[in-house]
Amino acid sequence: MGSMAKRGINLDGFLKKQKRAENDFDDYSEDYCEADETSSPGTSTSIDIDTNDGSSDNRGLNYNSATITGKLDEIRDPAKGTEGVATRFYEGYGPYQPRCHYPLDSSGRHFCFQWYSQFDWLEYSPSVNKAFCFVCRVFGRTSKQHEAFVSTGFQKWKSALEKFRAHQSSAAHKTAVLTWKTAQRTRNNPETNVVTLVNYQKKKEVDENRQYLKNIVETLIFLGRQGISLRGHCENNESLNKGNFLKLLAFRAKDNQLINQFLINKEKGVTYTSHGIQEELLDIIGENMTDSIIAEIKSAGAFALILDESLDISRHEQAAVVLRYVNPEFAIKERFVGFFRAVQTDGESLYQLVQGVLSKFKLSIDHIVAQCYDGAANMRGIYKGVAARIKKDNSKAIYIHCNGHILNLVLVDAAKTVTAARNTFGTVAELHNFMEASAKRHAVFEEMQKESGSKMYTLKGLSDTRWACRAEALKIIVKRLDELVMALQKIADEDPSCGAQAQSLLNSICTFDFIFNLVVLNEVFSITKYCQSIYNMLMCLYVLHGAKSML
Ligand SMILES: [Zn+2]
Repeated sequence: MGSMAKRGINLDGFLKKQKRAENDFDDYSEDYCEADETSSPGTSTSIDIDTNDGSSDNRGLNYNSATITGKLDEIRDPAKGTEGVATRFYEGYGPYQPRCHYPLDSSGRHFCFQWYSQFDWLEYSPSVNKAFCFVCRVFGRTSKQHEAFVSTGFQKWKSALEKFRAHQSSAAHKTAVLTWKTAQRTRNNPETNVVTLVNYQKKKEVDENRQYLKNIVETLIFLGRQGISLRGHCENNESLNKGNFLKLLAFRAKDNQLINQFLINKEKGVTYTSHGIQEELLDIIGENMTDSIIAEIKSAGAFALILDESLDISRHEQAAVVLRYVNPEFAIKERFVGFFRAVQTDGESLYQLVQGVLSKFKLSIDHIVAQCYDGAANMRGIYKGVAARIKKDNSKAIYIHCNGHILNLVLVDAAKTVTAARNTFGTVAELHNFMEASAKRHAVFEEMQKESGSKMYTLKGLSDTRWACRAEALKIIVKRLDELVMALQKIADEDPSCGAQAQSLLNSICTFDFIFNLVVLNEVFSITKYCQSIYNMLMCLYVLHGAKSML
């Protein structure tokens, strides 16, 4: 993920990269934009005098009255010939009619810009100080008679008006004008203009590619957000179930024309669904998410670092990093920014890991105001723990022993040392093991719940690390104690193989001690479960005080 950020990859970048690999849909759009930019009249550096009377082809071009230095002016100079002139015509450029310094000839005469308004086909070349006919150059046929206006240029300023009129009424010029007008009409009508049609088609294709890719990204985000795996065991054409990602896309194709075109009918030759593309897009999405989190943290100015290590499924030590900060609306945010592989779990290695994470996100260690870990020696050790090392760099980074971990430790100890709690949890675990180990016994419990017309519950087991599970296990027994007693009674009466066990459980739960402890522990654990889920320490204390006074 980090390397992608350095390379500055985003969706647009991805699109451009893909297009190079698979086809050149986007190439065109880039070229198109560049062409537009370089030919844009707005980019010329000149004093602008608009001589366009609205009917000419000059698309409001501005003439440089001082100097003519632009690259485009140089290309458009009629003395340069006709190369590219037709393309420029379709881009909207007509006769080249600059207003500039017109040199005098030997008889003291020069070209006059007023002639432009009289002869809309007239062009002037500053490089050779000669006049040309745009229409004959571009749309006419070369003939000896009109060579001056087409290729060599006209310079006899003394008889200019007379010669211009004569040229204008010539048959060759008139034919060229006819072609010119037709071409103008075609160019200005997008429905019949070939260039516009090609442009439109290409642009449409690029837009469709982008829109389709957006659909792919949305699908990936949906699956990621819901925590659903993407791939199937077998994704070839014969497979009946190609995994969630492809199946969801196929499902969306029923209502989505674009997905249907790309994925089902394969009209475009690309589907953007390979494993490599899935991973690259997921990386980009993750990158965008962390970017916006980090931007928010930077604007907050200060943050707390929360870190915990654990083994992943492949037995590698991973550190989960969470950053806590206050957003502009003064709401506390805790954001998970990633799992990072820990080479070793000693203080120095984890300290290096923290430094690596901070530099990856371009966050300064000076802005840490608090650090929060479990109570292990590698984290909190006063000389070599991560907390001590970070404090050496930034004395303001107060170490806080994670309150979630403290709560867990307190509950574990309380459950072990308080005999009443220990016995109650023992019975709760036995009840779960007994009822849920057999489908037959589970069915009896279900039957009792059905008879009483209440909502169905299944007994929950206990987990040593997840205390929320304990709260859930206690809550269900409190809610369904009557049905549980009736079920145990029925098993004790009717089942010869495990009736004795059922009777002994029945004896343990039908006592004042068990029921009293169950109710009290249920109250306590429902509060601890709530405390685990709120960010605000003061709120936690408030709730705990309330619970204490209630008990
Ligand atoms: Zn002409």
